[in-house]
Amino acid sequence: MIRSVAIVGGGTAGWMTATYLKAAFGDRIDVTVVESAQVSRIGVGEATFSTVRHFFDYLGLDEAEWLPKCAGGYKLGIRFENWSAPGEYFYHPFERLRVVDGFSLADWWLEHGDRSQPFDRQCFVTTALCEAKRAPRMLDGSLFAAGLDGSLGRSTLAEQRAQFPYAYHFDADRVAGFLAEYGVARGVRHVVDDVEHVAQDERGWISHIVTKERGELTADLFVDCTGFRGLLINQTMGAEFMSFQDVLPNNRAVALRVPRDEATDMNPYTTAYAAGAGWIWTIPLFGRNGNGYVYSDQFISPEDAERELRAHVAPGRDDLPANHIRMRIGRNRDAWIGNCVAIGLSGAFVEPLESTGIFFIQYAIEQLVKYFPDERWDETQRREWNTRMANAVDGVKEFLVLHYKSARREDTPYWKEAKVRQMPGSLAARLDLARSQLLDEETIYPNYHGFETYSWNTMNLGLGNVPAHPRPALRHMDPTQALAEFAQVKADADAMVAALPSCYDYLASIND
Ligand SMILES: Cc1cc2nc3c(=O)[nH]c(=O)nc-3n(C[C@H](O)[C@H](O)[C@H](O)COP(=O)(O)OP(=O)(O)OC[C@H]3O[C@@H](n4cnc5c(N)ncnc54)[C@H](O)[C@@H]3O)c2cc1C
Repeated sequence: MIRSVAIVGGGTAGWMTATYLKAAFGDRIDVTVVESAQVSRIGVGEATFSTVRHFFDYLGLDEAEWLPKCAGGYKLGIRFENWSAPGEYFYHPFERLRVVDGFSLADWWLEHGDRSQPFDRQCFVTTALCEAKRAPRMLDGSLFAAGLDGSLGRSTLAEQRAQFPYAYHFDADRVAGFLAEYGVARGVRHVVDDVEHVAQDERGWISHIVTKERGELTADLFVDCTGFRGLLINQTMGAEFMSFQDVLPNNRAVALRVPRDEATDMNPYTTAYAAGAGWIWTIPLFGRNGNGYVYSDQFISPEDAERELRAHVAPGRDDLPANHIRMRIGRNRDAWIGNCVAIGLSGAFVEPLESTGIFFIQYAIEQLVKYFPDERWDETQRREWNTRMANAVDGVKEFLVLHYKSARREDTPYWKEAKVRQMPGSLAARLDLARSQLLDEETIYPNYHGFETYSWNTMNLGLGNVPAHPRPALRHMDPTQALAEFAQVKADADAMVAALPSCYDYLASIND
């Protein structure tokens, strides 16, 4: 019987794992988190997936309770600026495309839409809320999307019947701190100490860890949440790390915490601005913005990246300290070896574009609960967990490479090189197909990776990789319903913009 789990690392990964295991297993499993006071956590101002909602609801945490403690804001989608052409932008919202007579509204848009207008603003309601900087909730707390109010209860990623319409921006460092308090109050043992040695038995499995102040600590299962260093999974278990640098060259970031000039002017979306040698994020937190430049040091030096970032997001604010971060982009071939599972940056990271880091953590934890071991340590279960994680990470890799391949930029060496770089998996075939038709469930990356068909099509259409012709069938079909649906999208959007408070006003009301 597995009775004890030791988690090394107290960042978002460590505390999300600890609190979820407690919520799932209660006191039947002992959970300990060992966290160094010397090594700081990543907390640059993170954006999330709308599915993160399942995590907090599973823990029984009400949004109004935790969000204000984590400087949180809302994310209705991502606004991509300068990726298709200088000065142009489009949104990738959390909203599935409506379907009329078996064809998505994007298909109908290709045949009957106003091609002088961006497709995203004709096909989605959420884009109007982004433009008008609206909150997704009324001041009484009710949600704009009917049928989704309240909590999702103890549900998991596997149970997403409907698309939850928003995600969050927050400071991951503060989320870890909040979850630590929550976890300790529910019985998680918290050890603030440095792990100096990881001991292995004759099979090579971890027998115990040795900490600086408190000596040995044993457990049945060890979870490596030590971040990019991979203290247990790489340095001890020798997991092979597979770099994605050949297809995703960004290997560094520089981050700033920037006060917002106008405190009340708060975007309910992440901005991803295509820059000279990468892209710049703007993540609006309550009280400030998180900004950063994700770049490849093959194309720009850290000093020049910092200069470009400051000029773009904080001109005249040279007093703000910059945080330079090296990123390890890729995944372990196996992130679970023997009795050691790596979750978080120690397991995999595919760069910050599309905000997948915390999603991978959530997915890894849920799958760990699903494949939780017993005394037989069934190899097939471990293999299955490794396969699921590898599939998800590789799917995100393909999806992110699509962003760089389909972008209409060729004005700097960085963007020129992106056009000729090799492509992973079957992406080349998918992009070829996208030039003649929109993709569907059969033609996007086939395994679960968090992104659905609408996301693949939204990115291709937004970036300018548009099918040469609409579906021929639509020429022979009565468009009345589809045209009515376009009008309905606009009517819904207008009504919501009129009724919803601004993003700032709503958040101010729960921050009181
Ligand atoms: C530039 C950048 C931008 C990002 N943006 C996003 C985003 O927008 N959205 C998103 O979802 N994700 C994002 N991420 C990823 C996200 O921040 C991380 O996935 C998340 O914070 C989890 O990090 P972690 O807990 O794995 O590692 P860390 O935060 O690095 O935590 C590591 C922990 O291990 C502890 N530790 C290390 N060594 C020892 C030791 N010897 N003994 C004891 N403890 C030890 C440290 O003290 C710390 O507590 C981003 C990451 C980076 C680098």
